Amino acid sequence: MKKSLVQFFNSPVDLAKVIAEAAAKDQSKVIILTDDNVSEYCLPLILPVLNELCTSVEVIEVEAGEASKNINFLGHLWTQLLESHVEKKDLIINLGGGVVCDLGGFAAATYKRGMNFFQVPTSLLAMVDAAIGGKNGIDHDGMKNAVGTLSSPNGILVYRKFIETLPQKQLVSGFAEMLKHALIADALQWERLTGISSPTSKSLMPFIKPSIRIKEKIISRDLRESGERKLLNFGHTIGHAIESFYLENQKDLTHGEAIAIGMQIETFIAFQLGKIKEHDFHLITNGLSNFFPYSQYEIPSFDMLLPYLRNDKKNFNGEFRMTLPVNLGRAEFDITVTEAALRKVMS
Ligand code: NAD
Ligand code: ZN
Repeated sequence: MKKSLVQFFNSPVDLAKVIAEAAAKDQSKVIILTDDNVSEYCLPLILPVLNELCTSVEVIEVEAGEASKNINFLGHLWTQLLESHVEKKDLIINLGGGVVCDLGGFAAATYKRGMNFFQVPTSLLAMVDAAIGGKNGIDHDGMKNAVGTLSSPNGILVYRKFIETLPQKQLVSGFAEMLKHALIADALQWERLTGISSPTSKSLMPFIKPSIRIKEKIISRDLRESGERKLLNFGHTIGHAIESFYLENQKDLTHGEAIAIGMQIETFIAFQLGKIKEHDFHLITNGLSNFFPYSQYEIPSFDMLLPYLRNDKKNFNGEFRMTLPVNLGRAEFDITVTEAALRKVMS
């Protein structure tokens, strides 16, 4: 496995010092991209140190939420970088959740054909997922992550205690991706995670590092998603369709909740297709349902989901390609499922 880009910190001051050291090398300006929540809760923990140690620090704030991940904000960001005479050797720090990491990562990867940047994830989902693996991008014409690049940051700096101020709903959203990592690669981590009585920042913090390691390990073997990286799509074929349905109908659902429901349905599909034994099917669906009770959510019918499913980027020659669990802690990718078969299972 390649050397990890992730560094863990027990204090935000130490994290800030690493940024200051990197900036000192080429006398780089430091540009911090963040959102209005993170600027309130996390920025004050590192800004004083940066102001003290760096020659130039500028903060650019976007409105919190997925709506900022678009071409308008990106254009605005490029303009601000130009107006501030930002050079290639300067440093962009993306301090925030997945939205800031995706938007700022894309801006950094494209401005002057690519400049230095660090990902500093502050949400659980960004720590274990969005900041890891080099993908960035924006949404376009109603399509999530329609445009983006694969670009490695200079580093991913993780201060786990940032999640202490995260709203519970967002914490649980990140927890779903941790459960996914366990389900596709590590049965022991699954046992530990499902042994938690309730997901809190304190109970989840010890599991952040192992969760990151699972994603890093998979990506180190397949950066470009030609094979194994597709394992990370478990729960996402159905999950994305449900997420899009909710979004279009102005209903509230986090990405993690959508993926947790998606994983339950996809495990059922795996069972119906004879890919997974009944024992493991029950273990997985019961475990997930404990934290994301299936009956609590309004599940759209197959016909309602179909238009979104037909848009799935993994589809091939009009057939669905799914990642399905085959054992507890192991999944397979590129499983072909026809529309007719899916309809039969899901109706
Ligand atoms: P987000 O960035 O919108 O953050 C969720 C909310 O939490 C926001 O309101 C944010 O302001 C707030 N927040 C973040 N950190 C906080 C903190 N420490 N204290 C208080 N509030 C805080 O969403 P997210 O769930 O972090 O990420 C979702 C995004 O990530 C989506 O756009 C998704 O497409 C993207 N994503 C990208 C990848 C990738 O590989 N690039 C992978 C997964 C998800
Ligand atoms: Zn996801």
